[in-house]
Amino acid sequence: MRRALPRAARRLVGPWCFLDHYGPLAFGVGAPMNIGPHPHIGLQTVTWLIEGEALHRDSLGTERLIRPGQLNLMTAGSGISHSEETPTRNSGRLHGLQLWVALPDARRNGPPSFDHFAELPVTATGTGHAMVLIGELNGARSPAKAYSRMLGADVVASHDGDVALPLDPSFEHALLVIDGHVALGDRALEPSTLHYLGTGREAVTLTMRAGSRLALLGGEPFGERILMWWNFVGRTPEEIADARNDWEQGSRFGSVSGYVGERIPAPPLSPRFR
Ligand code: MN
Repeated sequence: MRRALPRAARRLVGPWCFLDHYGPLAFGVGAPMNIGPHPHIGLQTVTWLIEGEALHRDSLGTERLIRPGQLNLMTAGSGISHSEETPTRNSGRLHGLQLWVALPDARRNGPPSFDHFAELPVTATGTGHAMVLIGELNGARSPAKAYSRMLGADVVASHDGDVALPLDPSFEHALLVIDGHVALGDRALEPSTLHYLGTGREAVTLTMRAGSRLALLGGEPFGERILMWWNFVGRTPEEIADARNDWEQGSRFGSVSGYVGERIPAPPLSPRFR
């Protein structure tokens, strides 16, 4: 597991506020992913698999298996809880990205929802293709509902060469190399590390070796100051403390049915939130 966002030097890319890259992992029996019920507020979770499968359950009653090429998008709003696990029948592989999107003030206290997209638009890039998870790239638009102007795309090279991707200059962008060898100009990009591109770019040209894959993230700079603690995105210490208290009291976040195991207790509140 490698955390690419947030880092001390970078807290946000557009509304993207969290990014973990996990795997690739090959396993025998068992379940490498088993995350018991836990709560969220103020964000969307984006589950983006490269290999393997994951079973999502939530307090809305959703039970949904996700595979590579698909998207699970959970909008926490004022509160939701969910679990994620490797299903009993699995491929023995796991590789993916877990991302969070901060919800803008106008939506963050709204109702929770969950959406699964079994297919996503794909656009040709010259040396391969890009799948658009959220937002729009090269005229291909994802059906996923975003509450900020933003982009998330999975770019794959099937042969060696340069890939020119058009960008919205009003967005800030960042790249994460998932697999293979990718260079920006004469600089090789270290994998699993967020490479921030800033705003004002009309395009980016990358040199990608065959079999390489990267995540392209972008969005209009998020004009709101957020507070992140544990699984919560808020604005004030009081609302973070209230959310923690509600989870510990068993209110607000409902319950996840079908999951076998314990819910995850909240860690002690950091002093800055008391
Ligand atoms: Mn979660």
